[in-house]
Amino acid sequence: MTVKGVYILCIRLRKSRNIRVGRLGDIFFRKGTYLYAGSALGGIEARLKRHIGKDKKLHWHIDYLLDKAHVITAAILRAGDKRNECAAARKLSRVLTCVPGFGSGDCGCGGHLYYAGDALHGTGGFLREYGLQKWEYFNINRL
Ligand SMILES: [Zn+2]
Repeated sequence: MTVKGVYILCIRLRKSRNIRVGRLGDIFFRKGTYLYAGSALGGIEARLKRHIGKDKKLHWHIDYLLDKAHVITAAILRAGDKRNECAAARKLSRVLTCVPGFGSGDCGCGGHLYYAGDALHGTGGFLREYGLQKWEYFNINRL
């Protein structure tokens, strides 16, 4: 069964650094944990494989970040056929600071990537802290 829907990536950047993010240009990223809201209507598993895989053509903003950082956890928020990642981004925006314009070229959001601080988040419970309800965690080690 192909699961489609909205997901959150929990991303770890080990060192503060500038990263060139496509047309957004050079952005300074503080080391720490980032949360990225996305949706995959063609199947979340295939999309996560792409996110985690190296040696790909850098196309989306998230590709540029993941070229230098890595995914710790992926959670599926909502299974379904809608691109609801903007609703998830809005919830994150109430408590976290977004990277302006990141991943939100096609919508009115401030951004789809949020800085969650320097602390390394574990794999459990990180979403509830930010007002999001997970549907299930995706075992990225299985990909
Ligand atoms: Zn949006």
